[in-house]
Amino acid sequence: MIDSSLKEIAAALRAKKVSAVELATESLARIDAGNGRINAFVTVDREGALAAARAADARLAAGTAAPLTGIPMAHKDVFCTEGVLTTCGSKMLANFIPPYDAHVVSLLKQAGAVMVGKTNMDEFAMGSSNENSHFGPTRNPWNTDKVPGGSSGGSAAAVAARMVPIATGTDTGGSIRQPAALCGITGIKPTYGVVSRYGMIAYASSLDQGGAFGYSAEDCALLLSGMAGHDPRDSTSLERAPSTYTINQSLTGPNDPLSQCRIGSLDGWLPLSGSGISLPETVRIGSNFPSIEFEGRIINILNDAIGIYCRKLGARYQSINTPGQDVLKHAVSAYYTIACAEASSNLSRFDGVRYGHRASSYTDLEEMYNRSRSEGFGEEVKRRIMTGTYVLSHGYYNAYYIKAQKIRRLIANLFKEIFKTVDIIIAPVTMGPAFDINSSDRNPIQSYQEDLFTVAVNLAGLPALSHPIGYTNGLPVGLQLIGNYFDEARLLNVAHQFQQATDWHTRRPAN
Ligand code: GLN
Repeated sequence: MIDSSLKEIAAALRAKKVSAVELATESLARIDAGNGRINAFVTVDREGALAAARAADARLAAGTAAPLTGIPMAHKDVFCTEGVLTTCGSKMLANFIPPYDAHVVSLLKQAGAVMVGKTNMDEFAMGSSNENSHFGPTRNPWNTDKVPGGSSGGSAAAVAARMVPIATGTDTGGSIRQPAALCGITGIKPTYGVVSRYGMIAYASSLDQGGAFGYSAEDCALLLSGMAGHDPRDSTSLERAPSTYTINQSLTGPNDPLSQCRIGSLDGWLPLSGSGISLPETVRIGSNFPSIEFEGRIINILNDAIGIYCRKLGARYQSINTPGQDVLKHAVSAYYTIACAEASSNLSRFDGVRYGHRASSYTDLEEMYNRSRSEGFGEEVKRRIMTGTYVLSHGYYNAYYIKAQKIRRLIANLFKEIFKTVDIIIAPVTMGPAFDINSSDRNPIQSYQEDLFTVAVNLAGLPALSHPIGYTNGLPVGLQLIGNYFDEARLLNVAHQFQQATDWHTRRPAN
């Protein structure tokens, strides 16, 4: 049953065709069968899940159930869960049991969703492949030699492998959209401030935003509705943000309102070939650093998806050429400057004193700090703390950090201009499908550059979604829809229309 849509699962629960305990048991059995291979979960909370499921069944019987009551789900291990291990993918927090729930966790608990466990992730959400986890890499359910993407790779793989129908994630620079794309599921990162960051372990606070994974846009809408909402404990939580996202049935009606929707792609971001033209194995576009190397087959898949949106569903397509668009080529540099700066500050709290890893031997306080941090953090986290400390240091602050902030402002202004002429920007998520685990030819800078299509959205604080649009060599490909502030419902409804007309989102990996 858990490979069905949330709508079907919720209907079955209400019709008493299945109980929440049966659903939780099914989810736990699928995790037992698959997690040895996929490593999507760091922690499975069997007793907690069954207790929550029994409470959900009682609510269903009493007629007080909410839309998510009884639905099995997983939380990325970045969200604090009271009494349940929360590691953030790090040795630093390998034994950390939080005394409180993140806002998102308590909202979903109140809604009666049944958390079965916590999912694997890149350490402190730094990475795009899940290989930076202290608990070993997560594997892509479509091909276990490949990465699932990251940093929310455990959540994406758990949903793709049908261990749970929905899961939470966080997206600081692409960590929901990229793993959703590489695992063949749908994922949405809302406008910055829509989902509270309270209890969500901080990486880069001005960029971090919680969001949702599901099989479809419709399922993501339901999960996001359960996560969003104002929270006074997060000073950046927005009071005006909508907190329910509905799939508006009129949008799927015969009047084809997609014809009212102006979809645009950025010149230089989306290489258009015209459908059906066969392309060489790799296609390089853009002469400016960083130039982009796409797999030819991906370009065809992207073009076919535009064809479905525009020819089949009637959206109005235009290519976007706004003055100043060139600034996007600095998005990756600005992002990594700001993200590392904020990380170096946020991660200073892990000092071995109050909680987290503490070295077992030291002679004085200074050495205790040094050893605890050296032992507790992995290589990538250390690299970013050092980079962040450097760009914030006296003498370099203006040259790096302030300059990056200026670029961030220009990028936000650019999107403001663009959304005067289009409703949705359509873009790639990645330049290719999932790559091999332990690819020997990858260096950090190369990995960072692959975030080209996702990080500008976070710098501007915009909402964006990724949904599956096809497969190459048995591996999924995703398409990104970027919306204006608070346009989550539009993104979800537009993707829903696509999913009504196609079946990519219903495909699932073998076993
Ligand atoms: N790959 C990006 C990074 O490593 C994005 C990570 C994220 O969104 N958490 O910073």
